[in-house]
Amino acid sequence: MNHYYPFINTPLPYSYDALEPFIDEKTMHLHHDRHLQTYIDNLNRFLEENPALQMYSLEEMLILWRRLPCHLQAPLRNNAGGVYNHRFYFNGMKSKDKGFGTTASPLFEAMTCQFGSPENFKKQFKAAALSVFGSGYAWLVSDGGRLRIVTSSNQNTPVLHFRTLILNIDVWEHAYYLKHYNMRAAYIDDWFRVVNWSKAGERFSRRWRKENSPLL
Ligand code: MN
Repeated sequence: MNHYYPFINTPLPYSYDALEPFIDEKTMHLHHDRHLQTYIDNLNRFLEENPALQMYSLEEMLILWRRLPCHLQAPLRNNAGGVYNHRFYFNGMKSKDKGFGTTASPLFEAMTCQFGSPENFKKQFKAAALSVFGSGYAWLVSDGGRLRIVTSSNQNTPVLHFRTLILNIDVWEHAYYLKHYNMRAAYIDDWFRVVNWSKAGERFSRRWRKENSPLL
């Protein structure tokens, strides 16, 4: 038996005020300590009642939920998704605003190739994040090395369809309401200032190398 269960709320990889003034300290406290904590508590409670699932990692649970009896599918998808999506989101940000950073990385080369330019990617990603009706996420994913922008509602995750996830933005209102009120567009602009592009590049390159070593 391995040691995924019980899940704990791992600390943020930066301080709560590290993303100021773009994402405020109070939002980060509530988001990490209350919202994410609730998903962790609910997931642990679910796994306590279903011990046969305790051996799986979050990613594995997000792939196997469809094979469970119907009444177990939604609780597992929502709670494992809530933990996975939030961790992915928090780990995809950092304190220093360095814009797009280096454009020489494989990720930026792919972005330029497919979207015309990193700025063009940004426009399309923002439009996708704005298009999420109600609560959900916008994601940058790689489909065998090819970049795609996708959205998911609630705590659904594209991990089932695209194993290489690069970036996500949480557009549930709790992610921005205290600072940006109902202005999701302003929050998306601010989020772009704190994206951890080197982390995004690592996520892209790790799978890219494994799945698709270049032919030329
Ligand atoms: Mn959230």
